[in-house]
Amino acid sequence: MENEGRPHVVMVPWLAMGHLIPFLELSKCLALKGFQISFISTPKNVQRLPKIPPNISSLINLVKIPLPQVVDLPEYAESTIDLPSEKVHYLKKAFDGLQGPLASFLENSAPTWIIYDFAAYWLPPIANKLRVPCAFFSLVNAATIAWTGPPSILMGITEDPRKTLEDLLGVPKWIPFASNVVFRLHEILRLMNSSKDNVAEVSEAYRFGAAVQGADVVFIRSCTEFESDWFRLVEEEIYQKPVVPVGLLPASVKERSDDNGEKWGDISEWLDKQKKESVVYVSIGTEATLTQEEVVELALGLELSQLPFFWVIRKPTSLAGDNSFTLPDGFEDRISGRGYICKGWAPQVRILAHPSISGFLTHCGWNSIIESLGWGRVLILLPFLAEQGLNARMLEERKIGMEIPRDERDGSFTRDSVAKSLRMVIVDEEGEPFRSKAMEMRGLFGDKNLHDQYIDKFVQYLHDYKPKKT
Ligand code: UDP
Repeated sequence: MENEGRPHVVMVPWLAMGHLIPFLELSKCLALKGFQISFISTPKNVQRLPKIPPNISSLINLVKIPLPQVVDLPEYAESTIDLPSEKVHYLKKAFDGLQGPLASFLENSAPTWIIYDFAAYWLPPIANKLRVPCAFFSLVNAATIAWTGPPSILMGITEDPRKTLEDLLGVPKWIPFASNVVFRLHEILRLMNSSKDNVAEVSEAYRFGAAVQGADVVFIRSCTEFESDWFRLVEEEIYQKPVVPVGLLPASVKERSDDNGEKWGDISEWLDKQKKESVVYVSIGTEATLTQEEVVELALGLELSQLPFFWVIRKPTSLAGDNSFTLPDGFEDRISGRGYICKGWAPQVRILAHPSISGFLTHCGWNSIIESLGWGRVLILLPFLAEQGLNARMLEERKIGMEIPRDERDGSFTRDSVAKSLRMVIVDEEGEPFRSKAMEMRGLFGDKNLHDQYIDKFVQYLHDYKPKKT
C-alpha cells in the first residue's frame, strides 16, 4: 500500500463544527508532514467538512461511522448545528454509542497515536489496552481549561472547594494570580439549567475530567506568546502531565472558501460595494441559539447603530423548517443595502479576510476569536454558552474586545446596549484603544512563521514520544 509505513494518527473530534474544523486543520498540518490520518466522524458531518487540498487528500481518510439511534434524538441530527443547545445531551448519548465500532476500527488499524476530544472520555482505556499513546486535544485555550479545574475535582474524586453560588462566581482558588476571568451569574444559572435533564451517562464535568485524566499528554490549541502564565499553571499545577501547545492553527482563507453554504459570488458582490473597514460581521457560531426576543433586540440594535453589517442568522438546520427567525416588522426593508442577512452557513474565514470588514460581533468561540484576530478585526463580545463567557472576560481584561452589557440575572440585553457598544468599538474615539489592540494582535494571531514553528515542534513531539512503561 502506498501509505504503509507512515505514522498513523486517529482523530476523534466531538460532533460540532467548532470541533470538527480545528481537528481537520490539525490533521492537514500532520498530513503535510507525512502522517497518515484517520479522521472519525458521522456520514453527514464528513460531508460538511471544508475541502481537503488535493495534495494531501490521499493521506486523510475520512472514516464515516453512523450514529446509533437514541430515543428523542431526531434521525437527521448528527451535529450540534442540527439541534437547539438544550437537546445536545441526546447527541452525547448517541456519540457514546460509537465506542464499540471505534474500538474495532482501532484494533484493525494499528495507529501510532490517538488524538481525541473531550466527548470521547471513554477512549483512553481502549487506547491503553492497545498500547497506543493517546492525547486529549483541547480546543479551548489554556486560561479556560485552567479555570475549569483539575480532573480529580471534575470527576468528583476529590471534593470541589466551591460550595455556593458565590464561590462559582469567583476566581477558583487553584488560580494563584489576579484575574477577571470569571463566569457571570446568568451564565452559571444557564449552565445549571442545561445539565439538569442530561440523558448521557455522565455529566459534562466528568466527561471533561476523565478525558484529561486518561490522556498521556494534553495538546492545546493556543500559544505561550498569548497566555504563558496559564500554560505553566495548567501543566505544573492543574494537570501535572505534559501539556503541549500546538499553536493557533490559523485557517487558510483559500481552503475555507468552498464551505458548503451561501454563494461567495453574492456575498463578495455586496462586500465589494462597502467602504473599507466599515462592515461589522455578526455571528454567534454553531452551538448557541438565540431566543426570539434576542433576535429582535440584536436586529434593532444593529439597525440603531447605523453601521453596515453582515449578519449570519440561523436556527438549528432541520428544526426550523424555513431556517429563519421572525425578524422585526419592516426590518429587512429598512436595512436594505446597509445590512446583509445570511440565513445559512457563511464562509466566515473568507468574509473576515475581506477588506470591508471592520469588526466582529461574536459569541466568543475560540475559533471565531482566532479567525478574527488573525485579520486584526476588533471584537464586540456577546457570549452565550460554556466557556464563551470566560473567553469574553479574558479578552476584555486585555482590552482586546468589549462586552455588550447584559442584565446580570437573566442575561438579557437591549437594542440600545448593542448599538452603543457597536458604535463605541467600531467608530467612536473612545474605542480607538480596542481597535489598535486588535491590530496588534494580528501580529501574533496572523503570524504564519510562528504557526509553522509550533507545528514543527508538535510533530517532533509525536515522533520522539516514548510511551511510559507499564
Ligand atoms: N462557521 C462558519 N460559518 C458559519 C458558522 C460558523 O464558517 O456560518 C465556522 C467558524 O468559522 C468557526 C466555527 O464554524 O471556525 C465555529 O467555531 P467557534 O469556536 O467560533 O464557535 P462554536 O460554533 O463552536 O460555538
